[in-house]
Amino acid sequence: MVKKPGPEPTDLFPPLAGLSPGFISRLKELCAPDRVITDPEKLIDYGHDESPETPHLPDVLIKPLNAEEIAGIIKLAREEMVPVTPRGLGTGLAGGAVPSYGGIVISTELMNRIIQVDTENLMVRTQPGVITAHLQNACQEHHLYYPVDPASLEECSIGGNVATNAGGARAFKYGVTGDYVTGIQAVLADGSIINYGGKLRKNATGYDLNHILIGSEGTLGIITETTFRLVPYPRYQIDLLIPFHSLAQGVELVLGLTREKRLVPAVVEFIEQKGIAACCQVLNETLPIGDGAVHVLVELEGQDQEEVLDDAIAVARLGQELGASEPVIADNPASQARLWKTRRSIAKTLKQLYPQVIAEDIVVPLAFIPETVQFLSELEKRFNVVIVPFGHIGDGNIHVDLCRTTATEKEKWEKTAVRVVDELIDFVVRVGGQITAEHGIGSLKRRLLKKGLTENEIALMAKIKKALDPDSILNPGKIFPEM
Ligand SMILES: Cc1cc2nc3c(=O)[nH]c(=O)nc-3n(C[C@H](O)[C@H](O)[C@H](O)COP(=O)(O)OP(=O)(O)OC[C@H]3O[C@@H](n4cnc5c(N)ncnc54)[C@H](O)[C@@H]3O)c2cc1C
Repeated sequence: MVKKPGPEPTDLFPPLAGLSPGFISRLKELCAPDRVITDPEKLIDYGHDESPETPHLPDVLIKPLNAEEIAGIIKLAREEMVPVTPRGLGTGLAGGAVPSYGGIVISTELMNRIIQVDTENLMVRTQPGVITAHLQNACQEHHLYYPVDPASLEECSIGGNVATNAGGARAFKYGVTGDYVTGIQAVLADGSIINYGGKLRKNATGYDLNHILIGSEGTLGIITETTFRLVPYPRYQIDLLIPFHSLAQGVELVLGLTREKRLVPAVVEFIEQKGIAACCQVLNETLPIGDGAVHVLVELEGQDQEEVLDDAIAVARLGQELGASEPVIADNPASQARLWKTRRSIAKTLKQLYPQVIAEDIVVPLAFIPETVQFLSELEKRFNVVIVPFGHIGDGNIHVDLCRTTATEKEKWEKTAVRVVDELIDFVVRVGGQITAEHGIGSLKRRLLKKGLTENEIALMAKIKKALDPDSILNPGKIFPEM
């Protein structure tokens, strides 16, 4: 067997001596042989995600077409104690889809059918491998809105979104993936299939099994179908990019809008000058951005054009009162697309500009955002590192990208980065925040779990895991430090 990098084998998962030809033949009987892949060249893309986690190859990659095929695979894997890692489209930022102990990767990429946009019940039923943007577009054709929009929406799968409870820029107004799920079909670790919930907007029948699977990062079941509720698609949208001198002014804007103007924008995001300038440079974009230290992106939307316009004027006025310079206004699809392309490219831009990036994804209560950003700039100075914060001030979620410059030695920087992250998370927890708002724990943030949760909370989560997956077949090496 080829030695692969990865975590130390445990008693539960000793090193696989390769999977036997008999085992592979049985998999091929369950799925068509061309969808059971062992060619190492073809496995490479399935050994990593978009995080800096050390890649680890699976022994076999399977691309099933339906829940029944997955159920067969899981039963066989459990018989033989072979770990199974579910995978969407591998855009995760926490190492969740990396098969830490090898074994089987189940990719949902061929389960990419939108089953039904139900205009009578305002619901959509979909297989998990559908790209998030495709689902949005299919709903929009019927004037319906699936509003959860991770910046990776053109590349990630809806099943991955459910498994990580993905958020996005519109979370301030609309919430996150889990807020739209009304039904889930999933294959559990014993190979049984559940079809929970459905096209129901309310359901108080027993425990909420949807919310046990949402955000479970492939450790409790494999999601094979989801039903989401939809809302009406807004007719009009206006975006404003407002330059402020400080982020505190941006937070004041959010609070002022909601408290005094009773207005909830769809989006309130911030980007520091260095972040937006880097994106414009990489994209060759000539947005007329002002010289504010911080840019706040506000999107307003609604069904009535005049109302949306009035709201935009109210936002611009309040911005001005708080000391902002002239905003960039995007009121048509072309200018909005330019603005959003720039916003959504931050993470990719930083990866292009720096040889190594560690992406943290903290969340704090809204009022602590300025203090948190202030703490980041202290960390930056004290440890002499580059930190680029950006993200969702509307919901307290700040992406903190620690970037290594080419001039910095890798090993030394990595050691420093661990100290920076530790101090950051200690601070965040102290002010009532958490380790991750939307990327999940995966394998990368496992070491931080004890900082964010109490022993009792971790023990309760471990009991849920044990009850649903007693042999730890599903995605071992994720979430829990000891599994
Ligand atoms: C440039 C960029 C921008 C991003 N922006 C955002 C953002 O704005 N908001 C955000 O929330 N995330 C963001 N992400 C992170 C990532 O896109 C999300 O976590 C996304 O939900 C992952 O989807 P995926 O299909 O790529 O899943 P994968 O990376 O393949 O898997 C992610 C996790 O879900 C599990 N999983 C996948 N499919 C299933 C399934 N069917 N059943 C059970 N478990 C499953 C995997 O085991 C793994 O633990 C970004 C990533 C990048 C690279």
